[in-house]
Amino acid sequence: MKPIYEPKGKAKEYGDLAINIYTGCPHSCFYCFAPRTIKRNKEQFHNIVEPRKNIVDEVRKQLDQEQITDKLIHLCFTCDPYPTGYDTTPTREIIKLLKDSGNHVQILTKGSGLRDFDLLDENDWYGVTLDGTAGKWCQPVEYRIADLMQAHKCGIKTWVSFEPVVNAGNVFAYLRRIASFIDKVKIGKLNYYPSVIDWAEFGRIIEKECQTLHVDYYIKDSLREEMEKNA
Ligand code: SF4
Repeated sequence: MKPIYEPKGKAKEYGDLAINIYTGCPHSCFYCFAPRTIKRNKEQFHNIVEPRKNIVDEVRKQLDQEQITDKLIHLCFTCDPYPTGYDTTPTREIIKLLKDSGNHVQILTKGSGLRDFDLLDENDWYGVTLDGTAGKWCQPVEYRIADLMQAHKCGIKTWVSFEPVVNAGNVFAYLRRIASFIDKVKIGKLNYYPSVIDWAEFGRIIEKECQTLHVDYYIKDSLREEMEKNA
């Protein structure tokens, strides 16, 4: 197994290299595509969450063999690096390995990575997803925002993934709340599910709002296409 890999397709917009640490995720977002991506039964994916077999040793081995250094490595695409209610020591051990080998991490979670802020510095990114819903099994939104503020205070770069946008009104409200302590936001549409959102209009307004609030932003390709199609 080579756990450090190059993402393909839409995931490529998030990072050049990535690691998936766990076999599943308890957060149970309705739009989750991870079970399909890794060909796992949905029920099992959300209910049986374990570190992938020998994941820490395999990361160590690959870093040694391939001399991977000075890369920004995304955690995680097909799971959450901080599955709420589970022991996240493997995530901590992997961050230590990556940092010790001269790499940097880009975390994206709906849990809490607070316990590992002592390992991170100004070259790392701590991010949370704020899709506009509360997410029953995720870390509550208020806690996720508090973690972002704390990361910012610790000198860690902060980012928010507004993807997929589920409730546009909430996303605008979150954007205004976080604007003063965030380094970047990434915004993407809900794909494969019906939505009442007019994506072209939403994209244009949120882009303008980011500019007004002086927030660095990236609009994901599928949302940008809608904006250009209906310009
Ligand atoms: S947090 Fe990510 S991996 Fe977990 S259920 Fe939600 S979309 Fe899937």
